[in-house]
Amino acid sequence: MENRIHQLIEQLKKNDLDSVFLTSIANVFYVSNFYTNPHERLVAVYIDQTNDPLLIVPAMEMNDAKNAGWKYQMIGYHDHENVWELIFNHLKNDDKLPSTIGVEYAHLNVERYHALKDIFPHIELKNVTNILNHLHVIKSKQEYTLLKQAASLADFGIKTGVEAIREGISELEIVAKIEYKLKKQGVQQMSFATTVITGAKTASPHGVPDKTTIDKGDLVLFDLGVVFEGYCSDITRTVAFHSVTEEQEKIYETVLTAEEKAITAVEIGRPVGELDKIARDHIATAGYGEYFTHRLGHGIGIDVHEFPSMHGENDLPLAEGMSFTIEPGIYVPNIGGVRIEDMVFVTAKGGETLTSYPKDLQIVT
Ligand code: MN
Ligand code: MN
Repeated sequence: MENRIHQLIEQLKKNDLDSVFLTSIANVFYVSNFYTNPHERLVAVYIDQTNDPLLIVPAMEMNDAKNAGWKYQMIGYHDHENVWELIFNHLKNDDKLPSTIGVEYAHLNVERYHALKDIFPHIELKNVTNILNHLHVIKSKQEYTLLKQAASLADFGIKTGVEAIREGISELEIVAKIEYKLKKQGVQQMSFATTVITGAKTASPHGVPDKTTIDKGDLVLFDLGVVFEGYCSDITRTVAFHSVTEEQEKIYETVLTAEEKAITAVEIGRPVGELDKIARDHIATAGYGEYFTHRLGHGIGIDVHEFPSMHGENDLPLAEGMSFTIEPGIYVPNIGGVRIEDMVFVTAKGGETLTSYPKDLQIVT
């Protein structure tokens, strides 16, 4: 924690910022080690260049924050109190009112923007999303270990889902079985709503599970992940039930080869966009270019979707310690879709795949 706060203060100096006011779950956790979902309540970390960092939490969470390791200043507010006044008075009394504050533009909502402007009428707000993204993007050894553990729980989730497939079972029944078994393993929460979709529904990259049942000849697509000690996993596998058509098989093999080509191409210094292009070119050559309708993947860590966005125009060079997903797909309306997704970690030797559930076309009988 000290190290991360220190790095952030260095960035404040470099970027002419008096302070930062961070409110996203991910960045509050990143600098405080306190992982909390406050819903509509405010949780924030305030860090300036010279004073002790300040954590702002609902009073009922002060002990949890201490237990998570926070040992600096804290404001614990009650629901009837005006937290913005408390913040202002705290900073004013210590004679450390800032003139520039860094905030997360993609996260700070309009109500909070105005609340900040009300207590600091002359404040200049600057966006620190990019600064935080670049601090997060290189993972430590410890973060690598947590991501790997999260990934292996995701593998277990896929295994559970594939084993649950039988004729007539509904998508939501399989979701329930996957999550039941993961909870028994100690998983507290999924990193996003578990996806199990079947048949023609697989043609929607963001299809939503319902009471649709599995029939012979369906493709079944699983997309899931867990949060393990604050770190997310994300995996997709597509299997066939009972039989496959030639077309389904061709789509599957095209996606699989595209995915493997992109993973093999991972090396330090290569621009992110090249990976997207390698997978996309393979899919286009097979005649399915128009059906690969999203980017190759996304960074993954404390957030399931984080920096960098793995799209074709991104010229960010890959660096050791980055972690992201590679997840090409082909989605043919009314017919169905296939996506295969793995988590990849950049090492000196290339891309290490953290998820490991088998990828050869599986026909469940
Ligand atoms: Mn993903
Ligand atoms: Mn996914």
